[in-house]
Amino acid sequence: MRKHLLACALAFGSAFAFNASAAQLVLLNGDTGTGLGLDDPTAVAPVGLNPGTTLGQQRQIVYRFAMDLWGSVLKSDVPIKVGASFQRLSCTATGATLGSAGANWIDRDFPGAPRPGIWYHSALADSLAGVDLDPIPDDPADIVSRFNGDLGKPDCLAGTTWYYGLDGKTPAGAINFLNVVMHEIGHGLGFQGFLDKSTGQFGDFDGTGPRSDTYTQNAYDNVLNIGFNDPASTPAQRAEVMRTSGRLVWSGQRVKNEAALVLDNRQYFTVTAPAAIAGRYLYGTASFGPVASPANFTGQVVLGVDEANASGPTTGDACTPLTNAAAVAGKFVLVDRGTCGFVVKAANVQAAGGIGMVVADNVAGSPPPDLGGSDPNITIPALRITLADGNTFKANLPVSVTFQVDPVLLQGADDTGRVRLYAPSVVAPGSTFSHYDTALSPNALQEPFDTPTVQAQYNVDLSPALYRDIGWKVNTGDARIGKCNTTVDVLEPGGFIVGANVQAWNNLCKTSAKNPGKYVQCMVDLQQRLRAAKLIQPLQGAAILVCTATNLRP
Ligand SMILES: [Zn+2]
Repeated sequence: MRKHLLACALAFGSAFAFNASAAQLVLLNGDTGTGLGLDDPTAVAPVGLNPGTTLGQQRQIVYRFAMDLWGSVLKSDVPIKVGASFQRLSCTATGATLGSAGANWIDRDFPGAPRPGIWYHSALADSLAGVDLDPIPDDPADIVSRFNGDLGKPDCLAGTTWYYGLDGKTPAGAINFLNVVMHEIGHGLGFQGFLDKSTGQFGDFDGTGPRSDTYTQNAYDNVLNIGFNDPASTPAQRAEVMRTSGRLVWSGQRVKNEAALVLDNRQYFTVTAPAAIAGRYLYGTASFGPVASPANFTGQVVLGVDEANASGPTTGDACTPLTNAAAVAGKFVLVDRGTCGFVVKAANVQAAGGIGMVVADNVAGSPPPDLGGSDPNITIPALRITLADGNTFKANLPVSVTFQVDPVLLQGADDTGRVRLYAPSVVAPGSTFSHYDTALSPNALQEPFDTPTVQAQYNVDLSPALYRDIGWKVNTGDARIGKCNTTVDVLEPGGFIVGANVQAWNNLCKTSAKNPGKYVQCMVDLQQRLRAAKLIQPLQGAAILVCTATNLRP
């Protein structure tokens, strides 16, 4: 009997410690005193629940909100220091790097390291060690993040702006800053592998020879059926896997377990007429526009025609406005790869009234790679087929197409349920390997391109599962306001973080309200929004209000 009581007491004690160990993320503002970026004094109106009245304030509010969300989800007794600043990142008129981030340092074989001889990301290493390992005395940051301060200028994705709202209601043409901050901090927390993306070589970071890391040890070659850390794995083989879409997958069990909760059933691009060419066709997905699906990709494919001119030498490249708008209106439009970017072609197809784009490759090869590029103004779906299939289509126009749905297999995972990582045929050193693939549907937070459908304020899909696979402990308990239990899960399997949202809002309501009445009103508004969105039950809404009132007492 005594033994039993002791066990209960221990369990209670550990439950308390559990809640206390939510991670604290601390902002190191790299723009302080510059009048730019996070320090920009330009007056602005509050937007989308963000109460800030200067650009700098709004950016900082979003940043702190994102830090509170991740801090609620992950467990660590060591504060995570996140450096942030705005600067010009790589930009053209039609494309831009929105942000970049990563661990500021890595460590191995520290006390508490789960596996010997491999590297761990800064914040994760601190968390596992239970102390601040801090190997760079004059640079305290664990994570370094940068955001594009020139976005929207004529030479930097002209016509777009950052959206600083916290409500996920991103206007057309804008880019949701909260999603991008969540994504970039997400890299720093461990969504990042350190091997050379072109050569497949592990890095030699301390002169003791090449070593893998806790992310890379979950990467898997599903053709040879070996992990990246397998003795049989070679740099040349890993390099080939990293540029073969569909062959690079995540073998970690948590992501595999949760994939079925998150991903849609796999869909097949299918020709239904003419009968002679009916059947399934391989396709590559687009990083821009909505994901091609049964709902938006059923109809007839016709040829797009434009002028052969200096912008594009053939009448099939869609590099200039289409000249057969009457024929393509309401149809899916077949165009050739080449000369101009895919988003340029898509914009021309869209402007002519096409409802989707099929790009035929201009070099032989299978499977067809994905369509890269970014333009938030593209609203039509697009996909890519092989050169051979493109020629088959052209010889049989018009071709009727649709998507068929598999009852078991998942969109963005291989046939055994391992989720795909990003492996474009041309290596993009900042994107290859350290993202989920663009084939995932719905789009994931940690895909390489901004996707407006992501709602990171309460859904971070397969990221927490991946963090668990690399060694993080996550908070699976209830959200608390002070010590009061709101009964809302901080994190649910499948990545809903409604409880984390409650905790982040509690912090924001407290810091932005000028008196207790305003704080209470801010929390009342929160629980009404969460109930209207059906993210919480009525009783949970009541618990949030009780906790709000309890939290007012000294
Ligand atoms: Zn990224």
